[in-house]
Amino acid sequence: MQSTVSMSSSDKPSSATSASIADWAQVNIAVWAAQGRIDERAVPLAGFARLVEEAVTDVGDAQVHVVLSAQERDASKGAGEPIAKQVWLRIEAQTYVPLTCQRCLSPVATELVVSQDLRFVSSEDQAAFEDEEAEEDVLALELVLDVQALIEDELIMAMPVVPMHSDCQPEGWQASEPLIEDKPNPFAGLATLKKVQ
Ligand SMILES: [Zn+2]
Repeated sequence: MQSTVSMSSSDKPSSATSASIADWAQVNIAVWAAQGRIDERAVPLAGFARLVEEAVTDVGDAQVHVVLSAQERDASKGAGEPIAKQVWLRIEAQTYVPLTCQRCLSPVATELVVSQDLRFVSSEDQAAFEDEEAEEDVLALELVLDVQALIEDELIMAMPVVPMHSDCQPEGWQASEPLIEDKPNPFAGLATLKKVQ
């Protein structure tokens, strides 16, 4: 999972919404980890362009709740070997995105929840090799990391394949079958039972 960090500040919209997450675009994650940094914020969904693209209605002032926790962990390779420090980042995020309900075809506010550990290793090859087996995502450690793009990647991966209301009827259903007639009377069965006895 590669993120580009080439975007200069002049390429970004100058609105206040993107300004509040601008510092996530260029993060020295090794420094964050050494500091044990925890960054908790509610930021505008409007600042996540790829998510906004998926939204079927205006996202307005919807928020994304984010908790980033960076830390160094010891990676001991065995007795007698030097203990290496590894850089980890935990991304927790939650938001609602309006998607199209695949049953009634109207918008449905779909909750996206992310809770993902990322581990950084020294090279692309190492990352590709270790990512196969690891439970966490393994990425190559870059000097400057676009953390906002990583958060957005994770939120996009958390999107359901088939967004749906918890209770709705297929589009056009009411036109052919009125709701009242179709609902069975919950006491109907009871009455029948009584007659039989
Ligand atoms: Zn629906």
